[in-house]
Amino acid sequence: MVSPEFGKKPPAVTDKTQIYIVGGGIAGLSAAVFAIRDGHIPGKDIHIFEAYDHLGGSMHYAGSPDEPYYLHAAWKVNVEAHQCMWDLLSAIPSLTDPGKTVKDEVFEFNRTHKKDAKSRLIDKDKNRTDIPEYGPLGLSWRDRIDLIRLILIPESWHENRRIDSFFAPSFFATNFWKVFSSTFAIEYWNDLVEMKRYMRRFTHAVHTAGTGHAETVFPYTLYDSAIQPIAKWLGEHGVSFEMGCKVTDMDFKPSQDELTVEQIHYIRNGEKKKIVVNKGDNVFVTNGSMVADWRRGSMTEAPVLETGKLDGSWTLWENIVKKRSGLGNPSAFDSHVNESKWVTFCFTCKDPTFIKLYEQFTGNKPGQADMVTFKDSNWHMSILVPDQPFVMDQPEGTYCFGGCGLAPDVEGNYVKKKLSECNGEEILT
Ligand SMILES: Cc1cc2nc3c(=O)[nH]c(=O)nc-3n(C[C@H](O)[C@H](O)[C@H](O)COP(=O)(O)OP(=O)(O)OC[C@H]3O[C@@H](n4cnc5c(N)ncnc54)[C@H](O)[C@@H]3O)c2cc1C
Repeated sequence: MVSPEFGKKPPAVTDKTQIYIVGGGIAGLSAAVFAIRDGHIPGKDIHIFEAYDHLGGSMHYAGSPDEPYYLHAAWKVNVEAHQCMWDLLSAIPSLTDPGKTVKDEVFEFNRTHKKDAKSRLIDKDKNRTDIPEYGPLGLSWRDRIDLIRLILIPESWHENRRIDSFFAPSFFATNFWKVFSSTFAIEYWNDLVEMKRYMRRFTHAVHTAGTGHAETVFPYTLYDSAIQPIAKWLGEHGVSFEMGCKVTDMDFKPSQDELTVEQIHYIRNGEKKKIVVNKGDNVFVTNGSMVADWRRGSMTEAPVLETGKLDGSWTLWENIVKKRSGLGNPSAFDSHVNESKWVTFCFTCKDPTFIKLYEQFTGNKPGQADMVTFKDSNWHMSILVPDQPFVMDQPEGTYCFGGCGLAPDVEGNYVKKKLSECNGEEILT
């Protein structure tokens, strides 16, 4: 593995080259697709190590037609900003119609399922805002100038600053902030650099963010529509999936000016193992994960917070940064669990009562809005009701939807508990 920061080209690929990929999320799977399609590496020489017994990482879901579904990630992407993803999906046949690529399938779905949110934000008096133009974003001239400053000033000037140290307090009451923070799951106490990066990447989408026109959605969950077809394609090319393998550490060649992995250490079924990496091999690592150490609750139990950094992605990242500089800073992500945690939820209903209430309250039909944010919610709660069925094997007459709360440690407006202490029934209430 050679990082660009170390300024050396990777050794040339030979017919003995092996590719080791740590992480079976979309990043690891994409690395494998590009190695085959663009790097012309035979699939049999590509090995993906995944700590869980399933692929997909943040995009995985649990559940079945007989059990409730549980999903992490949503399903919205942006045509302009997610170019690598479209390039990836243009190589992959769709599961529902192998004559089409996944990219074609997604674009066709979005042509026939137009989004046009009747409300993106809704307040406690049921006033809806669909934010068709800049005006209702509520930004003052000072806020606008601050946003431009944020985009233009070098990143190094913003390091170690919270978002609320940069903007006027009134900025956080604007519709712009409510849409921005809920879209990107970012809070005013988060890092300013994170906000700057999102602003730079999605500036073109700001004016339509409230109507949902900026977003492209997948016909089904990301796991069904993207992960499963990619995994099928990789399997057909002979890629080996080393499931249940937690990579814990790596040894590097002693050198100041290049970064070369010599050994990969992993645990499988409780047994410690290692792989010797040879010259010409390549190693790709997913470091950190938005769903690292996630825990699931139920209708009757709240999830239990895990702060022990047990997840493979933290273990590996923390171990390798002790050995070499230039590999990032895991503590920026894993040492403030209370500030960075969030609660997401997913419901499977066997009758349409909730969907009907949602339509009456928001004016949106399922799939018409990216998400709806309750402006006055203490929990900073948003819900997302996609086109149904959302999961490919979802039985007819069931409804699957979800949401999140970005301020989980504040007492709720109606249920007088912290969101992080609520079970599913209390959240649905
Ligand atoms: C609730 C939620 C909503 C989201 N909504 C959107 C959205 O609408 N649009 C959007 O674009 N993005 C969204 N995202 C973000 C998006 O899902 C993630 O950015 C993306 O899935 C990350 O992919 P990844 O492969 O980098 O990492 P992950 O999906 O985290 O996968 C990493 C994988 O690597 C494995 N792994 C890590 N370390 C090791 C190790 N040492 N050994 C073995 N295995 C290891 C993990 O087990 C995991 O399976 C959302 C995320 C969440 C959680």
